[in-house]
Amino acid sequence: MVPLTCLAPAVFGPGIPPTEHVDPALVAILLAPWAKIVAFFWGAIWGSFANVVIYRVPRGMSVSRPRSRCGGCERPIAAWDNIPIVSYLLLRGKCRHCGEPFALRYLVVEILAGVLSFALYIQLVQVPLVAGGAPGIVGWLAWFAFGLSLIIVTYTDLDWWIIPDVVVLPMALLGLVLAGIDDAWLGVPLTEALTAAVAGWGTFAGIRWLYMRFRGIEALGLGDAKLLLMVGAFCGMPGLAWCIGAGAIQGLLISVPMLWLGRDVANTTLQDAHGDDPEIAEDVGEGVTGRRVPFGPFLALAAMEYVLLRAQIDGAIAWLAGAG
Ligand SMILES: [Zn+2]
Repeated sequence: MVPLTCLAPAVFGPGIPPTEHVDPALVAILLAPWAKIVAFFWGAIWGSFANVVIYRVPRGMSVSRPRSRCGGCERPIAAWDNIPIVSYLLLRGKCRHCGEPFALRYLVVEILAGVLSFALYIQLVQVPLVAGGAPGIVGWLAWFAFGLSLIIVTYTDLDWWIIPDVVVLPMALLGLVLAGIDDAWLGVPLTEALTAAVAGWGTFAGIRWLYMRFRGIEALGLGDAKLLLMVGAFCGMPGLAWCIGAGAIQGLLISVPMLWLGRDVANTTLQDAHGDDPEIAEDVGEGVTGRRVPFGPFLALAAMEYVLLRAQIDGAIAWLAGAG
């Protein structure tokens, strides 16, 4: 049986003294097979919300109203037709009334978010419990919110060349607040979280400024700098280093072959999305093989790898630092 010492602080937050024995019923609930299914659906529900954010925020629309509508017949989508994943599969991705197809992306985002929550629940709640430690409930919820933000950033940047401030700035603040309350939640002390946040933002904002000043082009978006502010606040220095290094390498490995094959990485051109902005319109023709590639999705991909494979990546970085 699992030793039950010190469960209370992680479950209920700080300020509650650790008790010798925590209700075994709670442990049984957290380890129950259906708890994993709940964790998956928790993720899928938020994935459904992420779809709303991805569609509406770049269009300047409210995320709470009006209700979702079918793009074909304009009828509101009923609650029972809006159950994450299940409704999409039952309706075969079509509107119940007019048969208008819904983009496959809605299903993909819901599944991605579900899998993310499921994987983090096992890693941060169940594995520590089985090993005799405290379940990282706060860590699970916080890292899931971080990962969900990365999914939103990826799609808004691919569609609109936008990394929404309303997503990354509050999340950066959340990371710092959590680090300030308890080091153990994210596994990063506040001083390191602050340093990494400033370093991430400063590096990209600095490179951007130098390019603007000396070559007159916007090599990096300010959104990328704000994304790294969030990454630094959550992941600390090793995570930030991974995100920039692996993000750049994977960005080249993926985008160069795509561009050679004549395919754009983004779903729109920078000019279509921001052509009225004179600062951007001028430097069309710069970028990878003469075409622009959004960096945000690759930074987000590397950050997601860090979320899921943190122990392995930290180990590799420590080994590299020691060998160098
Ligand atoms: Zn319809």
